[in-house]
Amino acid sequence: MHEVGIIQSAVEAAQDSAKASGATEIHVLRLRVGALTGVVPDALEFAFEVVRSGTMAASATLEIENVPASFWCGGCQAEFLPPELSYVCPKCGRQDVELRHGLELEVASLEIS
Ligand SMILES: [Zn+2]
Repeated sequence: MHEVGIIQSAVEAAQDSAKASGATEIHVLRLRVGALTGVVPDALEFAFEVVRSGTMAASATLEIENVPASFWCGGCQAEFLPPELSYVCPKCGRQDVELRHGLELEVASLEIS
């Protein structure tokens, strides 16, 4: 399962940064997950239950921050959220738009002590 690997690396990264701050326990682990990653939040929660045991995050809460997909249109100099998953600017119809958000998959923040 894809989500287990994601959670394993997130927990490892969280532990590293908690240790670097001199903490011994992770209370809250916030993950930023982009809409285009294809990751299923429920599967992440489930994977977290399994992966966290024996780690500094053993009694931590997982919070998932969803990031919607957004694009940048160079023609309009504006960011837009596609109404559906289209890669076309709704204002000017330009197709060579740039993906700005939606592929995030990272630890957003931690609560540690
Ligand atoms: Zn445009």
